[in-house]
Amino acid sequence: MAGKQKNALIVFAHQEKTSFNSALKDAAVESLKKTGWNVTVSDLYEMKFNAVLSRDDIIGNPKNLNHFNYSSETMEAWKEGRLSEDIVEEQKKLLCADLVVFQFPFYWFGMPAIMKGWVERVFLPGFAYTFQSMYDNGHFKNKKALLSITTGGTSTMYSPQGINGDINVVLWPLQNGILHFCGFQVLSPQIFWSPGYATPEDRTKMTETWKARLENILQEDPIHFVPNIMFDMTFQGGFMLKKEAKEDNANDHCGLSVGQHLGKALPPNNQYKGAK
Ligand SMILES: Cc1cc2nc3c(=O)[nH]c(=O)nc-3n(C[C@H](O)[C@H](O)[C@H](O)COP(=O)(O)OP(=O)(O)OC[C@H]3O[C@@H](n4cnc5c(N)ncnc54)[C@H](O)[C@@H]3O)c2cc1C
Repeated sequence: MAGKQKNALIVFAHQEKTSFNSALKDAAVESLKKTGWNVTVSDLYEMKFNAVLSRDDIIGNPKNLNHFNYSSETMEAWKEGRLSEDIVEEQKKLLCADLVVFQFPFYWFGMPAIMKGWVERVFLPGFAYTFQSMYDNGHFKNKKALLSITTGGTSTMYSPQGINGDINVVLWPLQNGILHFCGFQVLSPQIFWSPGYATPEDRTKMTETWKARLENILQEDPIHFVPNIMFDMTFQGGFMLKKEAKEDNANDHCGLSVGQHLGKALPPNNQYKGAK
């Protein structure tokens, strides 16, 4: 890798060392290190990461003793260097990272609770976002992020005709609501469909594909989100699409994204390049 050494952070959530997720995490560490990355792993179960928000997340007295508002109290604590040590440690890892990989089994159409708690306690207002700096103007706009997920369901179950619904829709809250909201350039997710029902050979192939992808991960273009410039970014304007943006799209068959679909068909592969 030319130039400055790049830093990758793998946020990993699985309880078992013999799990396929654990094997995928190890494969990612191996592949990234081989191509010159400096790799840090936050192994959330191993760390017994506290996933529960509370007053203990700030040091010292709250600003408002009568009503503890988590967002405003943690924002003030962040400004004044009064966040609890475990949060600060994770924030430091994030600040150093050029690439953040979230490795997890899909639980109830989302992240395991311990990882969701990591997001809730670490991506704090002020540190991770403000209303003035969100989406493509977000604090982490120079960083890339990607979800690496194992599922129980098959790819056909998550197709537009499948019983679970289109994976592009299912991933929108995580990829738009968390990653893009904080500014990350979101790379197409790596999805390992149903490894529990795959043959050992197929699982080996999955791991090898993952390693090969990571070797060239920086060459990938992020997935597309509607840029901030197409919205009226004011409270008066309701943060809605501008009239011109809607007019430009008027003759298109598809909407602009999974979220900004304008009542039309979804643009294909909006959240997942490998969608069927
Ligand atoms: C609370 C909960 C909620 C869930 N919600 C959903 C949901 O909403 N949607 C959905 O689709 N699924 C859901 N699931 C299923 C879940 O996503 C899968 O069980 C999980 O993704 C499988 O990954 P794993 O790492 O746990 O697999 P494991 O069971 O650990 O591994 C699968 C297989 O890989 C083998 N293996 C381990 N290491 C290697 C290696 N190095 N090389 C090759 N093979 C190896 C293991 O021995 C095993 O045979 C849910 C499960 C739970 C517990």
